[in-house]
Amino acid sequence: MTRIQMENGAAKVVERLLCAGHDAYVVGGCVRDALLGKAPNDWDICASALPEETMALFGEENCIPTGLKHGTVTVKMDGGFYEVTTFRMDGDYSDGRHPDRVDFVKNVCADLARRDFTINAMAYNDRDGLVDPFGGAEDLLVRRVVRAVGDPMARFSEDALRVMRLFRFAARYGLEIDAETKAGAIALRRNLRCVSGERTREELLKLLAAAKPSAYLPKEIIDVIVPEMETVGGAAYEQLLCAVDAVPADGELRLAALLSALCTASSQTPAERVIKRLHCSNKTMNRILLAVKGALDDYQEEDGALHVRARYALGRHGMEAVEDMLALGSALRSPEAAGRLERFAAHARMAKAQRLCCSLKELAVTGQDVMQLSGPGPQTGVVLSALLDAVIRGTLQNERGALLEAAAQMAKE
Ligand code: ATP
Ligand code: MG
Repeated sequence: MTRIQMENGAAKVVERLLCAGHDAYVVGGCVRDALLGKAPNDWDICASALPEETMALFGEENCIPTGLKHGTVTVKMDGGFYEVTTFRMDGDYSDGRHPDRVDFVKNVCADLARRDFTINAMAYNDRDGLVDPFGGAEDLLVRRVVRAVGDPMARFSEDALRVMRLFRFAARYGLEIDAETKAGAIALRRNLRCVSGERTREELLKLLAAAKPSAYLPKEIIDVIVPEMETVGGAAYEQLLCAVDAVPADGELRLAALLSALCTASSQTPAERVIKRLHCSNKTMNRILLAVKGALDDYQEEDGALHVRARYALGRHGMEAVEDMLALGSALRSPEAAGRLERFAAHARMAKAQRLCCSLKELAVTGQDVMQLSGPGPQTGVVLSALLDAVIRGTLQNERGALLEAAAQMAKE
């Protein structure tokens, strides 16, 4: 019998439910990951117990009513949190994304049947071992495929997000995609338009963070979630995917690589539109747009000017942003252009290591100091900027006395 070493807290929750006469299992992603020998993100539990029965059993003080309507209670055990969801069957999906209603059922197999892929439709407890009515373990470990539970067309019509999940799981574990399942996903890809920007983004970023995402980004799918990409021809898209693979496995940076195809060094507007549609945070948007701009830019200056530029970039955007530009540029650009970008980044690294002044807040004088010399008003900012510029260009030491003297001189002029 297959044995899975459950996390202690999860094992206790399952055991307590079983002892109370309910059926209970760990289920879904944790079973899949445990079979692969990977540490699961979270241990989800499914049980025949109704939410109120689960709350009564563990005590209200140990429970959070996470989603009672869908049958989910979060149970605190041994310092961990475990979602316990009542076995359920989903009703019709009239919006192509959410079930109209859910019915609680008594049988774990009925619950497994509503799940998306066979590798995600397994349950386990120490009493019954692996419950695997759809051959998920064989698909996962022997055939190495992601396959829909039941009829792929029906499953993707119910919930279009599954189209993205299909490619995401295949990418994460380097699995093939079952032919019929893939055909269903491609045929119903346009339903992805009814998936929210947030959910599409989450899946896309996870997919992009896989070891080698290129094999799991068919153009037909990308053209639905990023219609702007339709203008990128097949050969150019293939080349773009090679660059995506070459970028470090960070979802946001890989998204930047993908969207770079819509941008130039002087305009990132189309990428910005896509990012807004995907409801990325402002922080993510800035990161991506800055990386694209920096990667596509040219760095033709001689060393002195490049040093100045690198210090300004470091002061304005920070070293992480410069490293992003370099990582992206190295994947996207010619060796010559990437070499120049490398020199630019080397200047920034050196400036950082030597703690050179790169921004107003690192100047050895403050706005207050300057205001005392020049009086209140817009000239304070002008003087400060001029001081910073002189320091970055190396014509002035970042030293209080020297700066005050220069500021007094400027105030006079
Ligand atoms: P991860 O490690 O990314 O969390 P996971 O398999 O745990 O992977 P979740 O999104 O947390 O994925 O979902 C938990 C389980 O719920 C899945 O394993 C699957 O059985 C089921 N599930 C989740 N989303 C869907 C969906 N859209 N359609 C059908 N079943 C789903
Ligand atoms: Mg999960």
